[in-house]
Amino acid sequence: MKSQSDSNHQSWRRSGQLLAPYLSPYRWRLAVAMACLFAAVTLRVVEPLPLQYILDHVLVASLSGNVAIAADDAMAVLAVCAVAVVMIATVRALLEYGRAVMFAWVGNQVVTRLRTDVFQHLQSLSMAFHNRSRTGDLTIRLVGDLNMLRDVAVTAVLPMIASTMIMIGMSIVMLWIHLWLGLIAISIFPMFWFAATRGSRKIHQAAKQQRSREGALAATANESLSAVRVVQTLSLERRFADTFGGHSKKSMKEGVKTSRLAAALERKVDVLIAFASAVVLWQGARYVLAGEMSVGGLVVFLAYLKRGFKPLQDFAKYTGRISKALAGADRVMEILEQRPAVSERADAVDAPTLRGHVEFRDVSFGYLDRRPVLSKISFTVQPGERVAIVGASGAGKSTILSLASRLHDPDKGTVLIDGTDIRSWTIQSIRRQQSIVMQDNAVFATTVRDNIAIVEPDATDEQVETSARAARAHEFIEKLPQGYDTIVGERGTTMSRGQAQRLAIARATMRPLPIFLVDEPTTGLDRNNERLVVDGILRASRGRTTLIVTHQMELAAQADRILVLQDGEIIEDGSHRDLIQQHGAYAAMYMSQQTRNLNHECALQQ
Ligand code: ADP
Ligand code: MG
Repeated sequence: MKSQSDSNHQSWRRSGQLLAPYLSPYRWRLAVAMACLFAAVTLRVVEPLPLQYILDHVLVASLSGNVAIAADDAMAVLAVCAVAVVMIATVRALLEYGRAVMFAWVGNQVVTRLRTDVFQHLQSLSMAFHNRSRTGDLTIRLVGDLNMLRDVAVTAVLPMIASTMIMIGMSIVMLWIHLWLGLIAISIFPMFWFAATRGSRKIHQAAKQQRSREGALAATANESLSAVRVVQTLSLERRFADTFGGHSKKSMKEGVKTSRLAAALERKVDVLIAFASAVVLWQGARYVLAGEMSVGGLVVFLAYLKRGFKPLQDFAKYTGRISKALAGADRVMEILEQRPAVSERADAVDAPTLRGHVEFRDVSFGYLDRRPVLSKISFTVQPGERVAIVGASGAGKSTILSLASRLHDPDKGTVLIDGTDIRSWTIQSIRRQQSIVMQDNAVFATTVRDNIAIVEPDATDEQVETSARAARAHEFIEKLPQGYDTIVGERGTTMSRGQAQRLAIARATMRPLPIFLVDEPTTGLDRNNERLVVDGILRASRGRTTLIVTHQMELAAQADRILVLQDGEIIEDGSHRDLIQQHGAYAAMYMSQQTRNLNHECALQQ
């Protein structure tokens, strides 16, 4: 019980933390909106007063034969009261309209900004985080949970603040009309509090489960649909449908549970209110009969009672939705609390135009589990030099590239470009001067042209074609149904791996950036595609400082220099000729691959 109420409070606190920085720019608007709210509440509190006046001073007085008020006066009072009723209602309506519009405006602004920030934050998080998370769940947090937060803030939390103020106002007036009767009416509050806190805890739990279930639902759908080909070829449709259906059913059950709990709370509150009203009516009638209270007083008191209790009903009604929003805020906060793998120094400046001198000086690095991946690596690459990095899987080759593009920072030692520690520059300004081709490269759902020119949207058709030719991609692009205008990726023509690779190389050659990082571009390609990609890489890397991680010895052999990495250390460093003469690890790798290729070609010819 204790821990549940703690988690409830914690959710409120976290929602507050999440929203406070975004609300503060709008504090003046919010203050005005709150003033409108306050004025509207005051008007709501005085609304029944004309009724009491008419009852006591016009109707009851004339019925009991009291002619203190002349008939004309009575009419005048009636008219004034009638006008007052309309006026109060009109002004209140205007105030509430203004408040609603202003709150909705702020709510939308806040969520839009928050969403953009959360999205940017997600993009800055490390691959390790993204490997752990499910894309569908993140999308739900970004879209569903944030919308829920906004809707509930506008349609539930603010009305509840208003309700609380109304409740306090009404209570004061009730106490003022009749102290004892007021106390009887107010005695319902503790009972309500008891019912509500118990109920809302359970609702909160159920709502939280439901939100994460919806995340799982979206993730399952996303994963199976994005791999629909594999799913179909392996006949996994049933299995995914079952998983999806299972999540869906559980989500439905939790949804029903939330609604059931909220409905139960609402009905409990109704009964409590009926009970309180009965006691008040009973006792109030006795006061009137005893002459301690006027009829108008009792009628107005009952009117206040009804209005004063409405917030309690609202609270019961909104608890379910507020719980869902709190759960959503929790889930958004979980994302924001993730720290990116690298953080920028406060005094970081934009890097100047780089020449491309890259140096690793005694660099040691381990991922979060702290098992060292690189230990005291040192090497230097001259501007324009082409260096291949070879070694077994898991030797730490990709890690070297990650450090050079600041996907991670070294634990010890320094990575320098043009003699400067790259940590003194902004991350963006370094990455903007590097082209990267990886093992798997994204093909975006757009035209071939836009895919190539994605980093250079203003590029001319000639530039795009030149890059495509250099990357040996032009030939296959021309054969596509609409050439460079063919839509590829998720919604269009699918590319083979080799084609996607060459597209990525074309993308990397769009701008002659000083540093070119290539990670195993030929893995999984057939010989023909492999040759094309190797050729593309060699052309694209001309005149640029290039680090090529590769298993493909033909590519390595063409580099100016080769680094052989083993167990996080560089064991050989030299040109192809030097290393072949050394008869070391590189020579062995090279020979074994040559033999394999030869056997392969003989087999093809037979
Ligand atoms: P290579 O590219 O040479 O195959 P990597 O540089 O990718 O090797 O990885 C080196 C070691 O670090 C491997 O043991 C790998 O399991 C581990 N590793 C790579 N990336 C991560 C990561 N994001 N989190 C934790 N460990 C990682
Ligand atoms: Mg790798």
